[in-house]
Amino acid sequence: MSFLRPLLVSLAAASLCNCDKTPVQTQGGGKPLVVATTTMIADMVREIGGEDIELAALMGPGVDPHLYKPSAEDAQKLGTAKAIFYNGLMLEGRMSELLDRLAAQGRAVHAVTSKMPAASLLQSDDGSHHPDPHVWGDAKLWTSAIEVVVEGLGAVIPGKKAVFAERGSRLKADYLALHEWALAESAKIPAERRILITSHDAFNYFGRAYGFQVVGVQGISTVSEAGLADVAKTVDFIKSKQVKAIFVESSVPHATIERIAKDSGAKIGGELFSDALGTPGETVVIDGQSYDCGTYPGMLRSNVSSIVKALN
Ligand SMILES: [Zn+2]
Repeated sequence: MSFLRPLLVSLAAASLCNCDKTPVQTQGGGKPLVVATTTMIADMVREIGGEDIELAALMGPGVDPHLYKPSAEDAQKLGTAKAIFYNGLMLEGRMSELLDRLAAQGRAVHAVTSKMPAASLLQSDDGSHHPDPHVWGDAKLWTSAIEVVVEGLGAVIPGKKAVFAERGSRLKADYLALHEWALAESAKIPAERRILITSHDAFNYFGRAYGFQVVGVQGISTVSEAGLADVAKTVDFIKSKQVKAIFVESSVPHATIERIAKDSGAKIGGELFSDALGTPGETVVIDGQSYDCGTYPGMLRSNVSSIVKALN
């Protein structure tokens, strides 16, 4: 596959990224290199692949996948990876062309959403023709991504298929327990107060799973910024529903939500992790409980706890 590398590098060089949050590359040890795009996917691949793979996560904490452009270094990793896991459903909007090209060349490129039944996917209401990509908001739905990773890694190291399957089923049990916990916690908020207002529409699956009406000021992607009309509409909505708290997101600039809080009188209920996890090992403490938001379960628990605390 080495003939692909110059092509990939030149492809990515045309759209170089200025991101200052590029994660540390891990290479070597003779283990197969596996690439994951978002932090949520990287956490899953790390849990299932464990010590048997060399994992490279392209997007770091706080990085917005809608806007992420692959760097030349990313293209090199993608060019040598034995398997590539990405979200799909146009989440990685600016990487789509490169990922499609790699898939067309017969590379092991896996969209982790590929096994989700069409009926389980929400449509975007912004006129785009692809489903809402923020599927990890529903821990139960997110378990179907595990199957894709287990199979994909099994194809890379056939001798470890059983090991990956075992780790996958343990992870599935964890996610299902997390789902039950999130249901029980959300139920502590009276139904009429379960209104979740955030910067962009990243929480529609979360809202469907855990019983929240969700309002994202900016729509489904962060590519277009919120206009004055969106801000005014949200302020009116908050006043009419007497919403007590609204939320900023870790991967989206806070200005719009701060403006809305000021104009509406709602307080900012905390920072939610929408499209990226936090920094591994860095904990968030809410009501005496600490959460490692660098992991998917820690991130979801932190989000639910912030929301329950602010809206209850
Ligand atoms: Zn998003």
